[in-house]
Amino acid sequence: MTTATQPHLPALTYDVVVIGGALSGAATATLLLRERPELRVLIVEKSAAFGRRVGEATVEVSAYFLGRELGLTQHLNEAHLVKQGLRFWFFNAESMSLEDCSEIGGRYLPRVPAYQLDRAVLDEELLKRAATVAEVWRPARVAEVQLTAGGTQTLLVDYQNQRHEIQARWVVDASGVAAMLARHNGWWRPNSEHPTTAVWSRWKGVKDWDGQGFAQKYPAWSAACRGIRGTATNHLTGDGWWAWLIPLKGGDMSIGVVFDQRLVQWPGGGLSGQQLKDFLGQHPIGRELLADAQPIEGDVHWRKNLPYYSTTFAGDGFVLVGDAAGFIDPFYSPGMDWIAYSTTTAARLIAAERRGEALAPLLQRHNRDFSVCYHRWFRALYLNKYEYMGDFELLRIAFLMDVALYYLGVASQPFRKGSEAFHQPVFSEPESVPFYHFMRFYNHRLACLARARRQRGVLGRRNTGRRFLFNGFNFGAGMTRPILRAVGNWFWLELTEGWRTWWPDRRDSATGIPAPAAETKS
Ligand SMILES: Cc1cc2nc3c(=O)[nH]c(=O)nc-3n(C[C@H](O)[C@H](O)[C@H](O)COP(=O)(O)OP(=O)(O)OC[C@H]3O[C@@H](n4cnc5c(N)ncnc54)[C@H](O)[C@@H]3O)c2cc1C
Repeated sequence: MTTATQPHLPALTYDVVVIGGALSGAATATLLLRERPELRVLIVEKSAAFGRRVGEATVEVSAYFLGRELGLTQHLNEAHLVKQGLRFWFFNAESMSLEDCSEIGGRYLPRVPAYQLDRAVLDEELLKRAATVAEVWRPARVAEVQLTAGGTQTLLVDYQNQRHEIQARWVVDASGVAAMLARHNGWWRPNSEHPTTAVWSRWKGVKDWDGQGFAQKYPAWSAACRGIRGTATNHLTGDGWWAWLIPLKGGDMSIGVVFDQRLVQWPGGGLSGQQLKDFLGQHPIGRELLADAQPIEGDVHWRKNLPYYSTTFAGDGFVLVGDAAGFIDPFYSPGMDWIAYSTTTAARLIAAERRGEALAPLLQRHNRDFSVCYHRWFRALYLNKYEYMGDFELLRIAFLMDVALYYLGVASQPFRKGSEAFHQPVFSEPESVPFYHFMRFYNHRLACLARARRQRGVLGRRNTGRRFLFNGFNFGAGMTRPILRAVGNWFWLELTEGWRTWWPDRRDSATGIPAPAAETKS
């Protein structure tokens, strides 16, 4: 903790102080004050203005949350882009050009809304709206927090060249990756089973996926998709890595690479846009799209060891939301889904205490739910996924099951139950346990298949010349069809090649990664 250097002013008192005024902080304040408008809430935000930040693609749950729960649909339509689903692009040594690359994506436009966000614009809008009901100090920094269970929390805040002492019944930690409370109280843990790094930047001059240039050069490729490719989240994939291409309103493109540190050695020599471009140049699509592109000056970022979590999510007087509570992986863009659950439950927790409800059982459930949610979410979807990320056949199987199950069990819930759906984080309910085990198992098996393929030199053998275009996901019972189809494909691979890995060697000699073992924790 830092030591106060400036003289203290008389202590100020609030019901709630929120550390950080970006999406998680502003959302928590908004939801809380909607339920308990009489509360005095102070939001302390360090930056004078938000810069662009990652977290630019919503998925169906986060889009529902932003649009319908936070009431931003009109703003999303006016200031951001409507997202056209997910697309994946694969290559191998035979892929010479963009049209050779195998593709997974929708044939038409998706049916459930989602958006591509400029987070500087979105977070500014949300904080502006929150400022109509809460007090905002900005730029201001929370320097120190003294927690007192069941009592008054004390914060030291630097604002307008003064150090202020603030007392509040509740502190909401929405400080993002700074994870102020978790780090200062010894709850912060790295997720060392998943050593991933991200490198990202925004670009100008990226070629238009749907423009005349590609339509004339590759007419069959262009005609194959009846929707819009350019406003999808396009993923370029390779062995142990993937890259996102997310278009932003106004023409800039957000591009980032995420890789498993055990499988990919990032080229040395300093971090620059050119390095990112060189890395993506190994993929025919990266080469073509970025041929004339330039990174925006000063906007190249690097973050190592991405995932982490807190062992404590709430106590009597504090609650952690968004990235301050944990982060798993950006693949499938789950960050803002996590924000939807954590901010909604945080607001409910504080409102319940203010109403005089017994807090102990609510806290117990909150901590249990978010701990279970984090670890199951990670194991079901992400553990060792980078093993098969670059293989069209294997990722296609996972994609079909992952997305169809998400639609059936998760994305459909807010449309059925409304706000209530956000009170129950994913994988925390008993009904989700069989699905969790199923997802964990197929993810594990696909990683085993990928490992064996890599050892035999056939990983990515179908990465050239395949196009898997589907008609779109929805909430109907028909979504069991893609699951059954993928299970059939997976079983066939088990019979024809999987048998090699049914009694695996425990370590891959090339990468040193322990073989994807059956996990113990749930
Ligand atoms: C590489 C990468 C790609 C991602 N892509 C996606 C994606 O496509 N979709 C998605 O949903 N999610 C994505 N995420 C996750 C997403 O970025 C985060 O979940 C989200 O931005 C977190 O929002 P937040 O409000 O919790 O934290 P932040 O956006 O980090 O905000 C924290 C705020 O707290 C303020 N603050 C910090 N310390 C203090 C202090 N002491 N005093 C006062 N203020 C303070 C900061 O100034 C900041 O404004 C990605 C993450 C990474 C790493």
